[in-house]
Amino acid sequence: MDRFPAFISLADRRVVILGGGDAALGKARLVVAAGGAPILIWPEVAESIRVELSGAATIIEGAPTRADLTGAVIVFVAVDDDGLAAEWAAAAKTAGALVNAVDRPELCDFTTPSIVDRGRLTIAISTGGAGPAFAKAIREKIEALVPARADALLALAARYRESVKAKIAPPARRRFWENFFRGPVAARAYAGDEAGANELAIAALNDPDTDKMDGVVHIVGAGPGDPELLTLKALRLIQDADVVLYDRLVGDDILSLIRRDAERVFVGKAKANHAVPQEEIERRMIGFAREGKTVVRLKGGDPYVFGRGGEELEALKAAGVDAYVTPGITAATGCAAAAGIPLTHRDEAQAVTFVTGHAKDDAEPDLDWGALAALKNTLVVYMGVSKAGVIAARLIAHGRAVETPAAIIENGARSEQRIVKGTLGNLGVMIDAAGVKGPAILIIGEVAARADGAGLVDIAAQARRAA
Ligand code: SAH
Repeated sequence: MDRFPAFISLADRRVVILGGGDAALGKARLVVAAGGAPILIWPEVAESIRVELSGAATIIEGAPTRADLTGAVIVFVAVDDDGLAAEWAAAAKTAGALVNAVDRPELCDFTTPSIVDRGRLTIAISTGGAGPAFAKAIREKIEALVPARADALLALAARYRESVKAKIAPPARRRFWENFFRGPVAARAYAGDEAGANELAIAALNDPDTDKMDGVVHIVGAGPGDPELLTLKALRLIQDADVVLYDRLVGDDILSLIRRDAERVFVGKAKANHAVPQEEIERRMIGFAREGKTVVRLKGGDPYVFGRGGEELEALKAAGVDAYVTPGITAATGCAAAAGIPLTHRDEAQAVTFVTGHAKDDAEPDLDWGALAALKNTLVVYMGVSKAGVIAARLIAHGRAVETPAAIIENGARSEQRIVKGTLGNLGVMIDAAGVKGPAILIIGEVAARADGAGLVDIAAQARRAA
């Protein structure tokens, strides 16, 4: 450690800011955010500052005097002139205050850190002045990991701290708090359900056997594959989980974000191509939750788009397990963005339809071909590779033009991405010719003509060149 970290209560403390420009305003905002009431003194104070700080700070538009510094614990020197800055920093030191001079580390007793502010939860990051930009980058990472509603949970903790102390002796008390901050109480508070969190906290407090506290299950969408397309919430949940149940669509890049000591359970199709039955997945999630674990059920794309997320949530609720769904970027939007295809377009597509090309027992997909062909908008087919030829033939038979542009996006938004571009008429041939093997979606409609991006294979252009 290069500096001594400390969190100072500013209630009833004299904090003086010398300066009347943006730098002074920045420091004033910081002091006000921390519950202080700064005194800002300088011959000229910008109008906008007076307006913003009115009521929150005392503003004295006039030359500061040494007497103004008497009794100050902190003095910020936020002035442009080098000579004045040095002079006032020295005066403040003489008055016994700790000094921070904006952009003049040599005059500073302390620096202001990069801050993650969640109310009671405050995280301050310092690089000892060596790399403020680095501190900022770290701050952004931490911001992503700290729940936005952390303060609501801490408020609840503060409310029960005394009762817990009176009712639960150590070591059970430590377990109580561990469960409190990681289990369903936390999940409810983070989801904005403060009444529900409160209810559970009371129940846990009244049940002396705190080991029995249930866990929680988060059904989380992992997006199409690129870890950068995870939501901040998904990332936080993945990194917090005790157990992660994941399926085939979730790639290694994302799995590597799971905590090293967390349990990973693969529930997708195994080599023999036998998927873990749905009931078995649900049974295991419920079992883990009842052991008090924080469980993440990680699914490709969005859990509610052809992902059976609805069934899983129902099963968990029926078993009385607290469960939540975190959305993800679904394959259609993720792949469309990766392939430069706007799913809707003012001139070309007024709507977009997502369908599944999968059908039970390898039968033909049971879709309303007439309606789909008549819409003449963008059609996105999930799980449609093996039936692409049939799908194209049915759409054409029901009136969609043979020349309608079509694109196949394989492993969209991943490093192995391929975009095969052609027309509805040769969709089946395109798939065979390109040897599509990975997960792929079909995008059919005028907008598909714009397909472009990493891994492009333009079948139509190839055919033109060959002719
Ligand atoms: N819940 C998922 C879809 C699951 S169904 C979602 O919202 O995306 C599985 C199908 O999704 C695959 O057969 C494929 O059609 C599509 N898919 C998922 N990820 C994909 C990707 N990275 N690239 C292309 N298609 C993908």
